[in-house]
Amino acid sequence: MARWDEITSVGDVEDRRGMGPVSWLAGGGGIIAILITIGLNFLGLNVSPGTVQDVVNNFQSLNGSSASQTEQDPEFRGADSYEVFAQKVLGSTNDTWTQVFARNNLTYQEPKLVLSRDATQSGCGVATSQVGPHFCPGDASIYLDETFFDELHSKYGADKGEVAQAYVIAHEVGHNVQSQLGAFGQNGAASNEESVQIELQADCYAGVWAYSIKQLGIFEGDEINQAISAAGAVGDDRIQEAAQGYTNPESWTHGSSEQRVAAFTRGYESGKPGLCSGF
Ligand SMILES: [Zn+2]
Repeated sequence: MARWDEITSVGDVEDRRGMGPVSWLAGGGGIIAILITIGLNFLGLNVSPGTVQDVVNNFQSLNGSSASQTEQDPEFRGADSYEVFAQKVLGSTNDTWTQVFARNNLTYQEPKLVLSRDATQSGCGVATSQVGPHFCPGDASIYLDETFFDELHSKYGADKGEVAQAYVIAHEVGHNVQSQLGAFGQNGAASNEESVQIELQADCYAGVWAYSIKQLGIFEGDEINQAISAAGAVGDDRIQEAAQGYTNPESWTHGSSEQRVAAFTRGYESGKPGLCSGF
């Protein structure tokens, strides 16, 4: 088991599990759906802005103006091991990127991580479990549905280890880094090719985080292979093959398994974010 206990930093994790989506839809004007489509979606599902808007409308018509739920169901109250894990991993990414930014005379803005189950409202629309873990530049937050980790295991055969889960968080943190460095421009639309570059760079940034964690002696044995196999399991080619039986590189938004593993490894072996471009 990786020695997460040695991490003393605590990231900003907001636990919305067991609260239902309703309260996050209250005052739902000005919902920005488009950012979800730019390839931040970890699973590589193509979710169009229309789809996201549909989800919003469905929730609103289902729920009408019913009272919002502002308290968690009792089973989620208090910090469980999953929440503590997310806090520590996020905290360690804060340490890594604060140092990198400081070396470049920049100040790193720490992201928030919202833990949810089933659906919650994000600054980019409704974050459902179908969308998968993603980063929303609009509110600088990572949205993580805890059911994703089970899916990662059962659908793609990745190890269900904590290092693989930490890689997912570190990848989304990579998007926060990109956001602060201006990678997303003004509108959310990106070509598939640009999207692949953005995703591979986020994988490489996750590798840079893993490098710093390795220096701290957090990983034991060959645990890093969990992250590498998770990166391979979510390549567009493997996902498409599983979903439709063939692959179509033109439609890729995240890169092939081989590309994703190579990008992560480049960051992990060098520890240098400056090498995380030009894939
Ligand atoms: Zn991503």
